[in-house]
Amino acid sequence: MSPGSKRTFHVSLTPRHMKPSKFVKRRLRIVGAVLLLPLLPPHCGLAKDKKKDPEEIGNRNVGRGINFYSFEREMILGRELAKEVELQVRIFYDPAIGEYVNRLGQNLARNSDVRLPFTIKVVDSEEVNACAFPGGFLFVNAGLLLMTETEAELAGAMAHEIAHVAARHATRQATRATIMDYAGLVLIFMGGEVGYAARAAAHLAAPIGLAKFSRMFESEADLLGLQYVYKTGYDPTALVDFFERLESLEHRTPGTMARLVLAHPSTRSRCRAIQKTIRTTLRPRPEYVVNTSEFENMRARLLAIYAQRHKIERDAYRPMLKARRN
Ligand SMILES: [Zn+2]
Repeated sequence: MSPGSKRTFHVSLTPRHMKPSKFVKRRLRIVGAVLLLPLLPPHCGLAKDKKKDPEEIGNRNVGRGINFYSFEREMILGRELAKEVELQVRIFYDPAIGEYVNRLGQNLARNSDVRLPFTIKVVDSEEVNACAFPGGFLFVNAGLLLMTETEAELAGAMAHEIAHVAARHATRQATRATIMDYAGLVLIFMGGEVGYAARAAAHLAAPIGLAKFSRMFESEADLLGLQYVYKTGYDPTALVDFFERLESLEHRTPGTMARLVLAHPSTRSRCRAIQKTIRTTLRPRPEYVVNTSEFENMRARLLAIYAQRHKIERDAYRPMLKARRN
């Protein structure tokens, strides 16, 4: 062997007669790739995305993502947030309305990825809003009950809030913002009247600008909420009607829309995304629940209560007519 020349040794542990042929090697590669498919992240497009499949509700982890909060800490946080809200708002105590809203919400929660029952309360406010916190606390404003025209619409709005809990948006957002005070979180997630009250309580100067993350979470809550509504048996397209009506109302009376709509870039693009989700991920069903007489009764009762209250307020401020003395 001349100096400088290299000699390489091919050491093989497999006996020559057992070496796989090219064909077998290719086969093994294909089998290996198929076996690895479930391990691939959902966004790579090859693995089946459980998040988009309503059949997988309850058998998937929709709250995946960077999160500094353990589930236990999240539960405690949710309870504290709910307590904070109850200090800031007036709860609407009407047994019939409360029972109806609670039944509807529990039914949606059962068909969601959240594995615990919700504590559902109606907030005595005409602002169109709803909010849910970890640990299963859902607040529904009377304004939302008045604004929705069918049970499917109300279910859609409530399911969207339940989806925020399922996907752990509160603590994922808090992780990103490293906001550790409850009032700050109430502000982010509730906005509107409750948010302002919490902000005042916490002496916070301005809302925290996390619009980008907010929007991402809003889209995710729309997707999951639609699935919950669909699985519960409601018409998922009702949510499009609701948002479109809400937007036209906002044009007529600015300030009507609260957190439910404002975090999104535009209602039109949101509705387009909802329609696409319905078309591409929800198998059409022969029939859906759109409305019930219980919803109609609840709404009529609530309208009557508020009409009576407005009348009392109007009467209180009406100028008194006095007979002129000559
Ligand atoms: Zn939302």
